[in-house]
Amino acid sequence: MTRIAQIAGDGIGPEVMAVARRVLDAAGVTDLQWTELDWSCERYAREGSMMPADGMDLLAEHEAVLLGAVGWPGVPDHISLWGLLIPIRRAFDQYVNLRPMRTFDGVPTPVRADLAEGVDIVVVRENTEGEYSTLGGRHGSGAAETALQTAIFTRAGIERIAHVAARHAAERGGTLTVATKSNGIIHSMPFWDEVVREVAQEYPIEVHFELIDALAAHLVMRPADYDVVLGSNLFGDILSDLVGGVCGSIGIAPSANIDPTRTHPSMFEPVHGSAPDIAGQGLANPVGMVWSAAMMLKHLGKEKETNRIMAAITTTLADPATRTPDVGGLADTETVADALVDHLRSTA
Ligand code: ATP
Ligand code: MG
Repeated sequence: MTRIAQIAGDGIGPEVMAVARRVLDAAGVTDLQWTELDWSCERYAREGSMMPADGMDLLAEHEAVLLGAVGWPGVPDHISLWGLLIPIRRAFDQYVNLRPMRTFDGVPTPVRADLAEGVDIVVVRENTEGEYSTLGGRHGSGAAETALQTAIFTRAGIERIAHVAARHAAERGGTLTVATKSNGIIHSMPFWDEVVREVAQEYPIEVHFELIDALAAHLVMRPADYDVVLGSNLFGDILSDLVGGVCGSIGIAPSANIDPTRTHPSMFEPVHGSAPDIAGQGLANPVGMVWSAAMMLKHLGKEKETNRIMAAITTTLADPATRTPDVGGLADTETVADALVDHLRSTA
C-alpha cells in the first residue's frame, strides 16, 4: 500500500476532494492507504493552529500529500500560507513546481479560438530559492527610507531545476523556453542563464532564452508555439498564472510540488483557492483537483490510470452538459463527477 495524506482544507476544498476520491476509485486505483487530515482554517479557528505541532512528522510518513485548498475570509493569508503550505514546500524540499496547462475542446478562452487551439504548456517553476527570500529589510526613514530584497540563486539550485525542465522538454516536444531578464538584472540572471545553458547541453533539446517581458506578450499572442517553459521562483509564478488564464479557467488548472529525489513526500493541489464565494453551492469545478490527483498517480508510476483520468477529463469538458459554469457549462459539481466516473467505468 502507498500512503497518501489527504488535506481537503476549506471552502470548495472538501467538495472537489470528494470528487477526486470517487474518480481515483473509478479508475481502479485500489492500493492507496489514505490518512484524512482536518487541517484547515476551520481547525485554526477551533484550536489556534492549522496543523498539530507534530504535523510535519506525520506527513513525512507518507508518499504524497493531496491538498484541496486552504484559506478562509477572516483568517489572514499569512496564517494559512505560513502555517501550512510554505512549511510543507520547504521542509520537504519540493523544489519543483510543475504547472501543466492546455486548452480543451469546448472550453472558452479569452484569447481567439484559432490562437488557443492545441495549446499544451508545462511551466516548470523553481520553488525554493530565487526572488522569494527572507534576506533584506527596511532601513532609514522619511524620503530616505529604503527596502532591500535580496534574491538568492545558487549553482546547485539552478542546476537541479534545469535538469528537471530539460528532462521534461526531452520527453515532450524537445524544446525548452527559459524565462530570463539578464539585460536588466545583471548579477543573478546572467548566472541563471549560464547554468541553465550548461545543463541543457546534456539533453537532446533546443533551448531558447526569452526576456520575461517579451515572453509574457508572446505567450498571449502565440501560446501554441510553447511547450516547456522554465522560470525562476518569481517568473515561474507569474507565467503559470498567465498560461492558466490564456487556457480558460483557474478551475481546471493543476499543480504539483515535487521533491524529485523522493526523500520526502511531494504535494499535489489545484491552482485555485478555497473560493468562499461559491463554497457549499455545488458550483465548484472539480477538474483542477482531479487533474492534480492524476499528476499524483503519474508521480507514483501509475501511467495507465493517469492517462485514463485525463481522457475522462477531456471528454467531460467537451460537453456543456457535463462542465461547470466557470468553463461555459450548465452542470453542477456532482454532474461533472458522475460524468467522469461513468466515462472511467465504461472504458474499464
Ligand atoms: P487563494 O488566495 O487561496 O489563492 P483566491 O482567493 O485568490 O485564492 P480562489 O479561491 O481561487 O482565489 O477564487 C478566485 C475566483 O475563482 C473566485 O471567484 C472563485 O469562485 C473562482 N474559482 C476558483 N476555483 C474555482 C473552481 N474550482 N470552480 C469554479 N470557480 C472557481
Ligand atoms: Mg483567497
